[in-house]
Amino acid sequence: MVVHTWGFVPSKPDSPWIKVELRAESGAVLRVSGIPYAAALASLARIRSALQSMNVRWPGKSLTLHVHPALRTSEMTGLDVPVALAIMAIQGKFLPEKLSRLVSHGMLGLDGETSNPEPLSTHCSNRSLPPSLIVRAIGSRESFPNVTNLPVQECHHLSQIVAALNRPFIEHNLSQSEKAESEEVMHEWGTIKGEGKAKMWLCIGAKLRLHTILAGPPGMGKSSLVRAAHALLPHNGGNPAPFLAPHPSGGVAGLLGSWRRGQPVSGAWALANQGLLFLDEFPEWPRPARESLRHIIDTDSLYLHRAEGSASWTSHAWLVAAMNLCSCGHHPERCTCDPSERRRYRRKLSAPLLERFPIQLDVGGHDETECQKSWSECIVWVQDKQEEARPKWQPDTQRLAQAIFKKDHSSKRQQRHLRILAEAHAQWENELNIRPCDVSAAFDVMWMNRQGWWRLH
Ligand SMILES: [Zn+2]
Repeated sequence: MVVHTWGFVPSKPDSPWIKVELRAESGAVLRVSGIPYAAALASLARIRSALQSMNVRWPGKSLTLHVHPALRTSEMTGLDVPVALAIMAIQGKFLPEKLSRLVSHGMLGLDGETSNPEPLSTHCSNRSLPPSLIVRAIGSRESFPNVTNLPVQECHHLSQIVAALNRPFIEHNLSQSEKAESEEVMHEWGTIKGEGKAKMWLCIGAKLRLHTILAGPPGMGKSSLVRAAHALLPHNGGNPAPFLAPHPSGGVAGLLGSWRRGQPVSGAWALANQGLLFLDEFPEWPRPARESLRHIIDTDSLYLHRAEGSASWTSHAWLVAAMNLCSCGHHPERCTCDPSERRRYRRKLSAPLLERFPIQLDVGGHDETECQKSWSECIVWVQDKQEEARPKWQPDTQRLAQAIFKKDHSSKRQQRHLRILAEAHAQWENELNIRPCDVSAAFDVMWMNRQGWWRLH
């Protein structure tokens, strides 16, 4: 992933704004561009110590630091703070977008204290002014001439800068889209207790757009999980990804589209392009609507043939369906229905349809583990578009997968899904090789594909 932010070098009156870019990828090399290598090493040594004092781990990755325009050694010291913030964004301490319009300045002490490395000049032009907020180590507003209309926050310690970044202080300078983003924070994991496993698989589903089905009793947070999963999706041109939650009573027309006054009308699936289509009460949907999803999922396109005419749409919607485990809605332990009733309800979903939902989660409030990653770490992980090295299969895990396929009579599609899920699980845990536990975790979330799953519980 690449994070960018801005620094400030007062001794460069013509172009005081310094763009700082940091790329992290797998490996353990340090590359620098635009600054002397020795100066970068000295700066990173201070930053490493400062972060340690705040219990922030150093990323175990190759780092490439690029500074533009190029700086001399003596000018580098004021960039400790922006580089430290970029490293913290890579570690998921806050969203990288928070830094992209931020100017910060200051040298770090080994304990994280900030100071001014050089006397500040008063001849700065505001040419190509990039930021909306300036955080500086210590000093006064006068140190940033010509930017009096921009808020300046003074801090004495790196932790205060982090706190300033998370305070509403910056809100009034945010654009509309960023405001929408901060409102979405309401739909974060923090408000949902436990369900660590479901949260992890929803991150994986969001990142790879793997259709997901959640089964569990009502009132146990299925909808909240889906809402939060939507907030994980990247914004498009400043707008949140679409979220569509059509009601089963809307039927085929609401889901797939219809004709009105001679014009084709898009259904929820087409409108949810690049976003999330939530199908609650999935077994309650009319059978034709459910079953037509099979072809749509396979092709990402939809043809509507009606007496009025034909229309077609393409969409890359992420499908997340939810269902109870019995028509009575009760948890299997408290359901007193006849087992045949439970079976009838569950078998409304055909095996070929379920097969197209590779992630099958059982959410019932009995998983008290928390997600291993914080909410912001999840967002960073899901939205990281870097092609990371794919985890590798080893002979023993290959054999394990083959044994599962054979025992389970897995279809080609199920085999493909199991491989994708095992790889994604290893990636989530930062593993370079796929382990047997990755394979069994993947197998666990494909439980509805198993013969006779509807008889479970
Ligand atoms: Zn029941």
